[in-house]
Amino acid sequence: MSQIRGVGIGQGVAQGPIARMTPPLAAPIDEPATAGVEEETARVREAMGVVARDLEERGERAGGTARDVLEAQAMMAEDPALESEVDSRLAAGKNAEWAVFDAFASFRDQLTALGGYLGERAADLDDVAQRIIARLRGVSAPGIPDPGHPFVLVAEDLAPADTALLDLDKVLALVTTQGGPTSHTAILAREKSIVAIVGATTADRLRDGETVIVDAAAGLVISEPSADDLDQARRRADDRLRTASAPLTPGALADGTPVPLLANLGNPDATNAVALGAEGVGLFRTEFLFLGNQSAPTITQQRESYERLLGAFPGKKVVVRVLDAGADKPLAFLNDAHEENPALGLRGLRALRASEDILREQLTALAEADAAVRAAGEAADLWVMAPMVSTTEETEYFVTIAREYGIRTAGVMVEVPSSALLADRILAHADFASIGTNDLTQYTLAADRLLGSVAGFQDPWHPAVLRLVREVGDAGRRTGKPVGICGEAAADPLLAVVLVGLGATSLSMAPTALADVRASLATHTLDDARRIAEAALAADDAASARDAAMSAAIPRERQLP
Ligand code: PEP
Ligand code: MG
Repeated sequence: MSQIRGVGIGQGVAQGPIARMTPPLAAPIDEPATAGVEEETARVREAMGVVARDLEERGERAGGTARDVLEAQAMMAEDPALESEVDSRLAAGKNAEWAVFDAFASFRDQLTALGGYLGERAADLDDVAQRIIARLRGVSAPGIPDPGHPFVLVAEDLAPADTALLDLDKVLALVTTQGGPTSHTAILAREKSIVAIVGATTADRLRDGETVIVDAAAGLVISEPSADDLDQARRRADDRLRTASAPLTPGALADGTPVPLLANLGNPDATNAVALGAEGVGLFRTEFLFLGNQSAPTITQQRESYERLLGAFPGKKVVVRVLDAGADKPLAFLNDAHEENPALGLRGLRALRASEDILREQLTALAEADAAVRAAGEAADLWVMAPMVSTTEETEYFVTIAREYGIRTAGVMVEVPSSALLADRILAHADFASIGTNDLTQYTLAADRLLGSVAGFQDPWHPAVLRLVREVGDAGRRTGKPVGICGEAAADPLLAVVLVGLGATSLSMAPTALADVRASLATHTLDDARRIAEAALAADDAASARDAAMSAAIPRERQLP
């Protein structure tokens, strides 16, 4: 048995044979065709047609944003201008693979030179060319493999569109060599309840077909497991299924202190969240609706999504975040400048402020959706918040503009240390704060949340992060304003208790984490939570904070004298 360490996403465990992401194809060689022009042309046409149909089908299966991306790619595969570029190379006696490679490359270079919207399509064109060449060679296209049975997917990383397309009946678990715990691959994995380990830097040594255990709770991929290991993993998976079927009571501590448990959502389909007992929505990531869009969504497009979301939670709180564009979630219509450090650039509210018309349209759509569901008698309690707020002035700006549109409850995310440190001033203007522990950790520890090499720093247990959370919790208590947590930290059952001990009044997480957190809260009183939080705060680093909290969480009667 050997182990590969990474960062586990969620508490799950799974087992199965490895299938690795198919690597890019070797570039074709510029040599004359061995077959005649007609035969080569027929081969290319067949390959282009098959690839186009395949992309269309994948788009239909995936739906949503992914469908638009894949349909656009299907059109590229049969683009008449590209076909004639390929034909002219075939007529010059080139082989089919080279003709496709070279024609697509010349188009790609032209697009890249144009920059902007068209420049961004260059990578899509490369992907289509690879698929056509793979078809011509009779090998699998690069990308998600299809070994014909369920598998554990090993990849460097996945684009959000890849993750959105994963067939969950086939992908038993996901292991990536890149990415941190709060990369959007990790978030989407959590949202889809995929057992996942990210930042497993040495996972590229795993062989196709070998059976592994993916233990997300321990952050380990176990290769060559014994029969006992496999049995134990299976039992744990069964136990988790049982926790998941416990009664869906509202979140509360053992002494009855309510801690509403809310869902983080990236699309308005709330079926899963409602089924898992979410008491509302603590973070609706609106940018996920428009990741592939080249132009800003219309008010009507947005209103439909928001109405559907609000309609799913009558009488419940629904916190919608205005677009958080930038860094790893660039939106072509909001971020067009090249930035060396986009996580520190025009991101979140800064980007929206630079394109205020888009912010105004989003607020209009939200206000209209709110009015429509109220008229239909299905009113949810709409709260709206801004991402990446770093000053009191930005808070005032956002709350003022939100009020112009009749938004009754307007708040800000605390994701930047400056906002945590000035939480009392921020809360003098905002109706509530919601702590985004993913970015708060990234910015406190100065560690890019996407980089596998610094994933070890991206740990919200770090006492520096916990102190900042305490600042906000204390400010919330003093001002009487709610302080939610909507970063992934809230999904860690023990850390959730610590966060409540530090003053959080609600917790929002991927719906799949609700059952574990509900069970954990129910075993501690508010006094316990405060004591466990103190123990974590007193530690020097993240690992010792976690250990200290674990010891403090052991029931008193079982503690050593
Ligand atoms: C966060 O930063 O914790 C957060 C909830 O926002 P996102 O992960 O979407 O950046
Ligand atoms: Mg964030």
